[in-house]
Amino acid sequence: LTLLGIESSCDDTAAAVVRRRAGAAPEILSSVVEGQVALHADFGGVVPEIAARAHAERIDLCVERALAAAGLGLADLDGIAVTAGPGLIGGVLSGVMCAKGLAAATGLPLIGVNHLAGHALTPRLTDEIAYPYLMLLVSGGHCQFLRVDGPDDFIRLGGSIDDAPGEAFDKVAKVLGLPQPGGPAVQAEAATGDAKRFALPRPLLDRPGCDMSFSGLKTAVLRQRDALIAEHGGLRRQDRADLCAGFQQAVADVLFEKSRRALAAHPVQTFAVAGGVAANTEIRARLQALCSGSETVFLAPPLALCTDNAAMIAWAGIEQLATRGPDGLDLSARPRWPLDRTSPALLGSGK
Ligand code: ATP
Ligand code: FE
Repeated sequence: LTLLGIESSCDDTAAAVVRRRAGAAPEILSSVVEGQVALHADFGGVVPEIAARAHAERIDLCVERALAAAGLGLADLDGIAVTAGPGLIGGVLSGVMCAKGLAAATGLPLIGVNHLAGHALTPRLTDEIAYPYLMLLVSGGHCQFLRVDGPDDFIRLGGSIDDAPGEAFDKVAKVLGLPQPGGPAVQAEAATGDAKRFALPRPLLDRPGCDMSFSGLKTAVLRQRDALIAEHGGLRRQDRADLCAGFQQAVADVLFEKSRRALAAHPVQTFAVAGGVAANTEIRARLQALCSGSETVFLAPPLALCTDNAAMIAWAGIEQLATRGPDGLDLSARPRWPLDRTSPALLGSGK
């Protein structure tokens, strides 16, 4: 089975071709990602209208490049998978319209994939792991624990009740005068900082369950910054490094403890992370340490597959075509789309 995947739900326009042959490991034949960081740089965040236009302009070209890089034409495909939500609706629409056009013109099966399902199924693209497994999705827009029981079968165990950690990293970078995206910048500063200097909160750590909160932590960093500026007339280099280290440590502590609880309640063979924040070396090391010495294997897909990409969408399409079949040309784009059908709303989606 060879599928084209299309992704345009946030600030990356992406297309990819993924193939699964019986008895063989899945293969990413191509994966094209066109970022928009430069377009939004002046605004301190993703501007939906600008993102939507950029997606509309670039999506056809991304598809062409992905097919060319795979050395395939439309006739070689078995289907088209597209992110149908959740996300910025203008962007999602661009992808869905493009996919529908291709499906209508070729007669190929069309399958609408939940962006979060794409992230959550990525570990099975890179490694041979069995259901069920536990997934921690930590990105700029999401933060949740999922038990993945099948390609379209997810149970949400808990998540952030306010900001996603990536969003908190970005805001902390902003208030400390560091560049965006904030995660890598904060991590680099933290390397020379003393994480113990400032007492920062670990919200909800004292409450049972897997829910998390990062907004109070972000505010605490802001207050500490203001106190330092009032005291010294500015933010000294070491102050900034210490604040970054303290903040990063607090996020890592919360993710560590909540992961420990999730695993205790749902002992599974594999614990996987995905999302941009999974790139954080401190957080990775802590989660790795949590699993070492236990029955559970820790898995973090390569970075390019942790952040937004279309290979994960093509792959989720391959998995879901087999279990639920294709969608019709009436497939709709959805700004909100909880993965877990039992959950009333998608908590932790700060965007
Ligand atoms: P979503 O995919 O949930 O809609 P998104 O597109 O913002 O959200 P990703 O592309 O998966 O998410 O990740 C981007 C986020 O990851 C940003 O908030 C960025 O700051 C954060 N990030 C990237 N690298 C690191 C790092 N080393 N440490 C912490 N955070 C990081
Ligand atoms: Fe994403």
